[in-house]
Amino acid sequence: MSRQGTESIYLDHAATSPIRPEVWEAMAPYFSNRFGNAGSVHRFGRVARRAIDTAREQVAQLIHADPRDIIFTSGGTESDNLAIFGISGKYRRGSRARLAVSAVEHHAVLDAAKALAKHDTYEVVTARVDEAGRVDSVGIEESVDSGTILVSVMHGNNETGVIQPIETIGRLCRDRGVFFHTDAVQSIQYRPIDIAALPVDAVTVSGHKLGGPKGIGALYLRRGLPLDAQLIGGVQERGRRAGTENVPAIVGFGKACELALGESTQSARRMTALRDRLEAGLLEQIGGIWINGSGAERLPHILNAGFDGIEGETLLYSLDQEGIAVSNGSACTSGSLDPSHVLLAMGQSYQQAQCAVRFSLGYGSSETDVDRVIDRLPAIVERLRAESPLPRAG
Ligand SMILES: *Cc1c(COP(=O)(O)O)cnc(C)c1O
Repeated sequence: MSRQGTESIYLDHAATSPIRPEVWEAMAPYFSNRFGNAGSVHRFGRVARRAIDTAREQVAQLIHADPRDIIFTSGGTESDNLAIFGISGKYRRGSRARLAVSAVEHHAVLDAAKALAKHDTYEVVTARVDEAGRVDSVGIEESVDSGTILVSVMHGNNETGVIQPIETIGRLCRDRGVFFHTDAVQSIQYRPIDIAALPVDAVTVSGHKLGGPKGIGALYLRRGLPLDAQLIGGVQERGRRAGTENVPAIVGFGKACELALGESTQSARRMTALRDRLEAGLLEQIGGIWINGSGAERLPHILNAGFDGIEGETLLYSLDQEGIAVSNGSACTSGSLDPSHVLLAMGQSYQQAQCAVRFSLGYGSSETDVDRVIDRLPAIVERLRAESPLPRAG
């Protein structure tokens, strides 16, 4: 599934993952004879409604939540936006409301918070991270005051894989009566979370990062938390997100969550072994490289490496010519020359941050893939360094 030709190696699963065959199989009938609108009362509608109910249970089970607290959205971006705008809109204490987000959040959180900060009502505080990319819980504590309504800190970072102490942060928020949202898009398939035990109020998940289709995701919202719907004009999703449900995508997302839950321990173990093999191989074969986030606990499928004297973008193109697909930072910022906000927040210089390449593994990844990268990369790096316009740091 992860190959286009025999030579292609896909190591960009943090950008998107191929659809699992079981997922596609589950979806297919909803593109043809089971086409009904889930809002219709006749049998066609009922078939679609039942399929959505099942998928909602599958998504809920992944985080041990009640299905009624799952809101289907168009993906991780919409879920993040809905959490930030939806919760903030309902809660304003006094004249000024404060939000705290970490400096390494996905832009779907950062830019939503920034948009709120343009209004006089909202003040947004960005909490610092340490050199390893870990959110500093003291920093969060300092960002929270009596006017704070919401804190948003992701579970696992999409560029570095660094895992954040969401339990500690969540507890801190709960003690102060502040709502806590976490973006679990990258982490959920390898680090299951249990809503019953974890002090979080809202969780973002997305279909296409775990073998499901694109354009579908969910926001878990703790019972009783009022939300300003961002899409209005229908009663779908209990009035929290209007619009005819994307039934095939919802069915596929549900199936992907079911598979992810069943496999999470095993796949985490397998990705850790592959990632460690890749990391050890690169460090052994190539000089002048560093691993971003290596001082922190990391998700098993992401390896972010800096190559001294080489622009990540250039390395990405050279690897692509060899049939190896990787990313520099996140898919969302590639194409722009700005270095990663995540690496800058970790205290790196522009020059250092530009040297980063992200390898991200997934279901179809194999030892053969990893070994081929370890085999090809040293020569590419050597050639680029010989041609490189970037000065070496040392
Ligand atoms: C991919 C990603 C998103 C956006 O999800 P989409 O479904 O692509 O909109 C949000 N947060 C993180 C951490 C991601 O990796």
